[in-house]
Amino acid sequence: MKRREFIKLSSLLGASAAASPAFMLGGCAAKPLPGTGTVSTTPTICDMCFWKCAGNVYKEDGELWKITGNPDDLHSGGRLCTRGTGGPGAYLDPDRLKQPLMRVTIDGRQTFRETSWDVALDFIAEKMKSIAATAGPERMLMLNHGAGSSHFRHLLRAYGSDSRAEPAFAQCRGPRDVGFRLTFGESANSPERTDMANAECIVLIGSHIGENLHNGQVQTLAEALNRGVSLITVDPRFSVPAGKSKYWLPIKPGTDMALLLAWMNVLITEELYDKDYIERYTTGFEQLARHVRDYTPEWVYLETGIKPDVIRQTAREMAKAAPATVVHPGRHAVWYGDDTQRSRAIAMLNALLGSWNRKGGFYIPEKVSLPNYPLPEYPKPKAKTADAYPGKWPFAGQGVTNGVIDASFGDDAFFKGWLVYGTNLPQTIPGVAAKLEAAANSLELLAVVETMPSEMTGYADVILPECTYLERYDDLRNSGERHPSLALRMPAFEPKYDSKPGWWIAKQLGKRLGLDEYFPWDDYAEKLDWQLKQVGSSLEEMQKVGVKNFPRKQPLYMREGKRTVFRTPSRKIELYSEQLADKGFDPMPVYTPPDPVPDGFYRLNYGRMPAHTFGKTVNNPMLFQLSPENQVWVNPLVASEWSLKNGDYVRLGGTNGVV
Ligand code: SF4
Repeated sequence: MKRREFIKLSSLLGASAAASPAFMLGGCAAKPLPGTGTVSTTPTICDMCFWKCAGNVYKEDGELWKITGNPDDLHSGGRLCTRGTGGPGAYLDPDRLKQPLMRVTIDGRQTFRETSWDVALDFIAEKMKSIAATAGPERMLMLNHGAGSSHFRHLLRAYGSDSRAEPAFAQCRGPRDVGFRLTFGESANSPERTDMANAECIVLIGSHIGENLHNGQVQTLAEALNRGVSLITVDPRFSVPAGKSKYWLPIKPGTDMALLLAWMNVLITEELYDKDYIERYTTGFEQLARHVRDYTPEWVYLETGIKPDVIRQTAREMAKAAPATVVHPGRHAVWYGDDTQRSRAIAMLNALLGSWNRKGGFYIPEKVSLPNYPLPEYPKPKAKTADAYPGKWPFAGQGVTNGVIDASFGDDAFFKGWLVYGTNLPQTIPGVAAKLEAAANSLELLAVVETMPSEMTGYADVILPECTYLERYDDLRNSGERHPSLALRMPAFEPKYDSKPGWWIAKQLGKRLGLDEYFPWDDYAEKLDWQLKQVGSSLEEMQKVGVKNFPRKQPLYMREGKRTVFRTPSRKIELYSEQLADKGFDPMPVYTPPDPVPDGFYRLNYGRMPAHTFGKTVNNPMLFQLSPENQVWVNPLVASEWSLKNGDYVRLGGTNGVV
């Protein structure tokens, strides 16, 4: 018998996604007109995606009415996106996890049984103690996504493990950040440090801002368009930004690198690059000039389908506006296997334009200097995450999810236990089902902390129901950006059902593991208040304002003409990368044509649905109403071959047989 059979939770909970919209509609129809009762507001930070926009939760007669943007929040422009305004759906969702669940076997079949917090926490703590005693604490791995994971990272570090992977790293922006770091010594950051607010030319390549609703960024692009920015969009589809562009380059999928190299070829051969910037701040220009010589627009046309005169015109358009030109680093930059090099090519193109750390290109992000709460030092782990897959991905700054999954099953499995927070691996990692089954059969502990049932909860020994972001404190928002600011998430409501805040769950586990000294607060509010008082504010103040903006301490851009040191080994922007060469990789990006598409198949380009955050929000009753289905865009010629018309349902099969 399998150690852990996959258990479908929805059948046990007796509620379905289809029932949820009716619940919401009925609830709203019976109420008096909104705003006619007693209204109060509570500050929050949206958790419907990772962007962390600050908002205000409106209650009317104690009931949740709506959530709007906090007008003082420069990070979000004082507005929430579609998904953010759907936050009430997360709180009201009748399918939420309601109490701790333990895997049990009844009559030979595995199922989940409701249990008490004490039983669930004791079980996890005993298993963690056993793993620490027999294999070492670093064999306990955390897989996580989202702001609330900080409580569990703190727990695991206090326990002695810094083993961690975020699917959002290797599957999304990891290659991009590695490519930028290898070039500039710093990442493109999140939120992206693009100075679109002052740009005169913006280039989107493989990015469709407006379809991906990263709130502040969408607003900045819209404002830039209003003031006449020159937008160049490279996308096989006529996407939303393509429709607003001066140039739309419908490129053949998988050939971006060729176009990026051709643009560099034009900038260098026509001497349009920023000579002073290149001379002062970069190394490897001569090698780059030789490297791109053969990537002529005429040669690249054959690969990309973009005509040579369009490649030249768009390169000149970028150079004309430089350094106020942003070639956007994009997000979810993981496609063809050469993704780090593709992102590095984007970084190098920005370097030729002289736009890094310059007005209209990229600004220097700044955070508030917020002291950490005084706690004992963490024990030093005897192993790092990367020890689980020696020699692989030497430049990845974080754990690589595929690597840690592979290291979680088999006779010599490195990891013995998983704590999974807010991430749904079966929907996140392509083709992972068999490996997850193997890991589920091998691990000594698989605990999941979640607000909603998901495929991942189906593999757990224990499921701990976290309350939603509207019912809890989390850490203060303090992201590096244009305007340093702090924002507060606090409970607008008591946790529904028997769900609990993440900070409470982590503290209770810490107590059982003998780590009380790392959790000295009775309420997380105490910790936040202490931190806020160190920077001249207080919890009381933040509970009123929600967001506090701070003045910058360093300039927004590099000082023109002054010596600037970059965080690379050479202290310069590295167009030629010795670091890559030393590890046996191409020191400069090389174009490799994508594998041809077999007869009868087509390339599937994917992106984001504006009303959803991946699979995370599909059950949200409000967002489900807005966007109940995945949609596929089909090239008109292909559609006519298959006699497809708008609104038809289609089934897509992959070359690997997945439907
Ligand atoms: Fe919420 Fe939208 Fe902001 Fe994401 S971008 S945090 S979903 S309002």
